[in-house]
Amino acid sequence: MVIEYVGQSIRQVRCKYQTMSPYLFRVDQDTIIDATKCGNLARFINHSCNPNCYAKVITVEAKKKIVIYSRQQIGINEEITYDYKFPIEDEKIPCLCGAENCRGTLN
Ligand SMILES: [Zn+2]
Repeated sequence: MVIEYVGQSIRQVRCKYQTMSPYLFRVDQDTIIDATKCGNLARFINHSCNPNCYAKVITVEAKKKIVIYSRQQIGINEEITYDYKFPIEDEKIPCLCGAENCRGTLN
């Protein structure tokens, strides 16, 4: 375990949540963790198509939490990254991760 993605849990009711903040993490169909106001260092972790970590939703005392785990040994000063796995949408967000197997877009 590297770090928990901490933030406010937001129930998504009917309308689509405004994706104005870059610090939103979707837990499931109707819950989002918003790290805009009360996040920790995890919100600064960048996306990579060839990441050294992955995000996993775990349940602790009936509450869903997002935890970043490492996939491999991570060296000193090596950047920590994970795959954001954004849903596929028409409007593409270009990916600049620089990995050899880069998909070209985040979504
Ligand atoms: Zn990429």
